[in-house]
Amino acid sequence: MTSSTPALCLIVDDDEMLRALTRAALECAGFQVEELPDGNQLVAEFRRLRPDVILLDVLMPGLDGFAACAQLRADPLGSHVPVLMMTGLDDVESINHAYEVGATDFVTKPISFDLLSHRLRYMLRAKITADALRASEARLALAQRIARLGHWQADAQGVFEPWSRETYEVLGLPRSVVIGDLKELSRLAIAEDRERVDVAFAEALRHGNSFNLEFRIAGSDGDVRNLYVVALAENVVDGGARFIGTLQDITERRRAEQQIHQLAYFDAVTGLPNRASIRAHLVQALALAKRNERSLAVLSIDLDHFQRINDTLGFASGNELLRAVGERFRAVLRAGDSVSLMSETLNLETVGRAAGDEFIALLPDIANAEDAAVIARRLRGALSEPFEIADQEIYARTSIGISVFPDDGASADDLLKHADSALAQAKREGRDCYQFFTAALNARAFKRLTVEMHLRRALDRDQFMVYFQPKLRASDLAVVGFEALVRWMHPDLGRVSPAEFIPIAEETGLIVPIGEWVLGHAASQLVAWDQAGRAPSKCAVNLSAMQFRVKDLHQRLARVVTDCGLDASRIDLELTESVLMEDGQAAIRTLHELKSHGFGVAVDDFGTGYSSLSYLKRLPIDVLKIDQSFVRELGTGGEDAAIVSTIISMARSLNLKVVAEGVELQTQLDFLRAQGCDELQGFLFSPPLPAAEIAAWVDAHERKLSA
Ligand code: C2E
Ligand code: CA
Ligand code: CA
Repeated sequence: MTSSTPALCLIVDDDEMLRALTRAALECAGFQVEELPDGNQLVAEFRRLRPDVILLDVLMPGLDGFAACAQLRADPLGSHVPVLMMTGLDDVESINHAYEVGATDFVTKPISFDLLSHRLRYMLRAKITADALRASEARLALAQRIARLGHWQADAQGVFEPWSRETYEVLGLPRSVVIGDLKELSRLAIAEDRERVDVAFAEALRHGNSFNLEFRIAGSDGDVRNLYVVALAENVVDGGARFIGTLQDITERRRAEQQIHQLAYFDAVTGLPNRASIRAHLVQALALAKRNERSLAVLSIDLDHFQRINDTLGFASGNELLRAVGERFRAVLRAGDSVSLMSETLNLETVGRAAGDEFIALLPDIANAEDAAVIARRLRGALSEPFEIADQEIYARTSIGISVFPDDGASADDLLKHADSALAQAKREGRDCYQFFTAALNARAFKRLTVEMHLRRALDRDQFMVYFQPKLRASDLAVVGFEALVRWMHPDLGRVSPAEFIPIAEETGLIVPIGEWVLGHAASQLVAWDQAGRAPSKCAVNLSAMQFRVKDLHQRLARVVTDCGLDASRIDLELTESVLMEDGQAAIRTLHELKSHGFGVAVDDFGTGYSSLSYLKRLPIDVLKIDQSFVRELGTGGEDAAIVSTIISMARSLNLKVVAEGVELQTQLDFLRAQGCDELQGFLFSPPLPAAEIAAWVDAHERKLSA
């Protein structure tokens, strides 16, 4: 019905007379009129006639007015047509029934025709308003569906009004799931986000505040969705607040952002970070390295002869090779194991593709330049196996240029530039190698490489020796044992200090055979001294971090000792604090295993780590060795005296033996004795000596004591 065409009123009544009178009255009032004699006809003809309003009698043959009205309402097209029921006067039951079956209103017979036209017009106006409202609601619902936006209302306790269909759709939940309040909503959040959501909701409820937050839920399809919830708090008259809010699925938007990010910061071919992104990481890592006074390295990596591969095998194969190379590089940097070169804390992707066949690696936290050389060698090592591309075996080679902070520059751009010029230098040197920007760093890295090379052969060539440093009882200075310390004599390099080669041995894994060799040597020496009739003594042997992680360590070490015919209880294994802290549970297990064979356990360099008293209590240990640095400072009036006496009394309370090492002065000896330290070791008594010199030293020492 529009304003120009008159409204169509359909009269349904079996009384022909009444129909005629009504028609006349309504036509007079400007209506268009159609008539039908009964309910069945109404149902049959409704869709054809499409009346704007229906005047419906109750009592009719066939289908009566109630049944006809009910059927009409069941038809989607008939659900909103105004129906005016004609009932008998004061027939309350019929009136109620009329409303029940969906009638809009009723008039009683006999009908006042004057009033009837006004009633009908009023009903039509109301219907137009209702239609407009429904249309706008439908548009809003559609808009909400498009925006993936749902709305909700909750009272001051966070209890929801029933949700709309859109709101359910946004959450991807069936309507059968009832979400009663904010708490139940927060339960939909994925585990990682739940606590944050709980806290935000609880805060908002407590203070009656408006809020907004984003969180993720696992939809019923299992996909994670990003939800954005906005709530406005309204203060209602009777105090308290009420929340009116929206709830939006922003998964798509987040995904798009992610994609944009991916395009801006990642290389499309390899999926690795691009140069811009590596540079951004570098800026961050630099700030951290400056603050922590750490080193950092930038490696510029170029595939040798990549152009030739591209030319012969084609672009696609070239890309495939780049991807495969990137993958291997990434594996190397992820591994970053024994040297702990990759600082997990920064959590940066550390290899990227700069351009063409050039990659960049960022080592955000290294101990020294040599670490960068180790990584450069590993990166090159990662390419030693051929790639299979386009059914061909392809060998890739790289040249690498390295710049190091702080040596080669303090800004990201300087470091990148210098890594590039080191790369150019590496290529000039004839490719397939790595090169530092600074000549001195090259020399150092070279030295390290040389040491490593020689170290690999040192065991076979019998270049190691074990020295023994006596340990004395503090009370009477009697010799109670020794510490075995390895020495390396190389024909060209000369004497190499353990401080220099032990870290390399650790990193290369060589420490495992070397350490077991030292243990075997010390054990045999004790047996030899026993056989020579010397008073039985104990020997301490150092165990490095890397060794401590070896599988079945206890069985291996026990075998070494028993093979020599020595009881394991004659050996104390010295471990540093940091090793014991690394993986608490595993460390405790390993210690128990070692002790089950009879080995004693000593904590070396104690005081330099951060182990707490309560932690130490849980460890099955026998001895604490106070770190030399504290002993050295004794008598200089610093706080070390206090630290040392604290360590000693703490050790006593835990029933541990305390050994002080690095004792060089009489004053240190006096102090340690007074504090109740158990054993002493240091140059004041003897440096580490070759086994052959021990007997003479012990004899001389005993003569001195009895004198
Ligand atoms: P460490 O276990 O703390 O060994 C004590 C170091 O202090 C030894 O150095 C010893 O020679 C030195 N020293 C002893 N008395 C004094 C003193 O009075 N004054 C001073 N200034 N120094 C003293 P060394 O032999 O050079 O060993 C250095 C480190 O190398 C050792 O420290 C240990 O961590 C490691 N190391 C040595 N031998 C082995 C070994 O066989 N296996 C393992 N894993 N590490 C070893
Ligand atoms: Ca030691
Ligand atoms: Ca020590």
